[in-house]
Amino acid sequence: MTQGFGIHKLLSYFCSYNLLMPKKSSSSKATQSKKGEYSSGHSERADKGKPQTFRQDDAFFRQTLESLEDYAIFTMDLQGIISSWNGGAENMLGYSEQEIIGQDVKILFTPEDVKKKVHLKEMSGSEKNGRHLDERYHLRKDGSRFFVSGKMFALRDPSGKLRGYTKLMRDITHRHVLQETIQQARMYAQGIITTAREPMLVLNEDFTVNTANRSFYKTFKVTKPLTERFNLYQLGNGQWDIPELRVLLADILPLNAVVQDFEVTHTFEKIGSRNILVNGRKLSLVGADSAMILLSFEDITQRKQADQFKNAFIGVASHELRGPVTSIKGYSQILAKHSGKNNDKFTAAISSKINVQSTKLTEMIGHLLDISRIQVGKLQLDKNAFDLNTFIKEVILDLESEITSHTIVLKGGVSRKVDADKFRLGQVINNLISNAVKYSPKANKVIVTLTEEESGRYAKVSVQDFGIGISREDQQNLFQPFSRASNAKTKKIKGIGLGLHISAEIVHAHGGRIEVESKFKTGSSFTFTLPISKNREVIDA
Ligand code: ADP
Repeated sequence: MTQGFGIHKLLSYFCSYNLLMPKKSSSSKATQSKKGEYSSGHSERADKGKPQTFRQDDAFFRQTLESLEDYAIFTMDLQGIISSWNGGAENMLGYSEQEIIGQDVKILFTPEDVKKKVHLKEMSGSEKNGRHLDERYHLRKDGSRFFVSGKMFALRDPSGKLRGYTKLMRDITHRHVLQETIQQARMYAQGIITTAREPMLVLNEDFTVNTANRSFYKTFKVTKPLTERFNLYQLGNGQWDIPELRVLLADILPLNAVVQDFEVTHTFEKIGSRNILVNGRKLSLVGADSAMILLSFEDITQRKQADQFKNAFIGVASHELRGPVTSIKGYSQILAKHSGKNNDKFTAAISSKINVQSTKLTEMIGHLLDISRIQVGKLQLDKNAFDLNTFIKEVILDLESEITSHTIVLKGGVSRKVDADKFRLGQVINNLISNAVKYSPKANKVIVTLTEEESGRYAKVSVQDFGIGISREDQQNLFQPFSRASNAKTKKIKGIGLGLHISAEIVHAHGGRIEVESKFKTGSSFTFTLPISKNREVIDA
């Protein structure tokens, strides 16, 4: 017999025939002799007129009630004095039958509930309506509390006279705690959404707005009545009805997809033209059947304008600076020649210094120009198929005229031509070798290795040094603009942190990848790949 079926059948029987009512009747006043022999004086009267078939079933039902360990079932007389107690009640509340029979039911209620006379209200409620349902905390014998789903039934004799009450209790503490936790988690999440500085929307499965936070209303200058319960795509004259966004949002719930930094450029009804970044993900609510979508918005209009201004400024400024610096460099060379002729050592030394510094300045301006080109997506490549072996040899030869502290060793080689922009590739190799030399002041060797990878589909160039190395932490952002490792700064090795960023952009624009392997205080190895030319032209030996 399942408990679900059994409980109701048993209780109807129980309530009609007063099965658990005292076995003996000695007086109308409640007394307790020994275990199970409590009498409130009602049972004999209640037994009268009971059909014999039920009498025969008593043992069966009594046994069954006892076996319902998960349910506490007990009876009370009209004054709320407990008159019977099953095994489940003993397990749940901790009192043995002997201890509890004859006690007032209020000892099972919390002091707060007793104060509010809840136990009496339950009795009068079940008297009035036949039964009383409630969910509340109760007390165990040891004083601990547990949450109960309870039903109290009025017990009437065959003539309909009220004889007492039956109470059925089920311990639902676990479910209750879970519900409370869920409720708290929801309130917590709700609190975060409401107070977040970012505009946020919570959408139902059908894309209607469930909740919008304060910041959403403020940012988009819209009102709650015209937002909540409306479909996202109908909001503000369809201002969010953007085909690409629709496609992305449609995948969130079925595929658990995430929308990350989707940029919307739109002229909004109330706030005009804006650049908004949209992020979205599925919100799975514990205990809820349906999921929701959380959308957050970031207005990046001002940041974009500032970026555009900054890029334009860098572009114009560096372009304009290039001319005067080239002139300074030219004049310093004229000065050097002139001082040589006149044997003027002082002027010769100064003009050489001007030359060195203006070369540095030219390099820096070059970097800034490249950065501004990268930012506006204008880094154009002039690609040709050529022999990388020869090209790298030439670059190294060029560098060797300036580098005296280190030997640059070239190893390996590739058998096919690469398709690349020679000028830009030269910049990358130059930067990696110059860095290898600059950041290994105590070493005297840099190794450049050329190999092929992915079955000859890519040429791979590695530049290895035995210098200061880069910590794991610093390696994370190394290819970001202006990123410098902390040891380079502490060792006061000069640099501005643009070369690697530009190199990475050049390599990526070629369809290759760049990475670093490094051990702090031991050395670094920078590696990049380049696709082999489409026609796979073989290099003549
Ligand atoms: P810069 O050298 O002008 O600072 P880069 O972009 O070329 O700019 O390099 C960024 C940073 O990476 C450097 O400041 C340095 O901290 C680190 N770095 C680059 N190459 C090496 C290397 N071979 N060994 C150690 N650190 C390096």
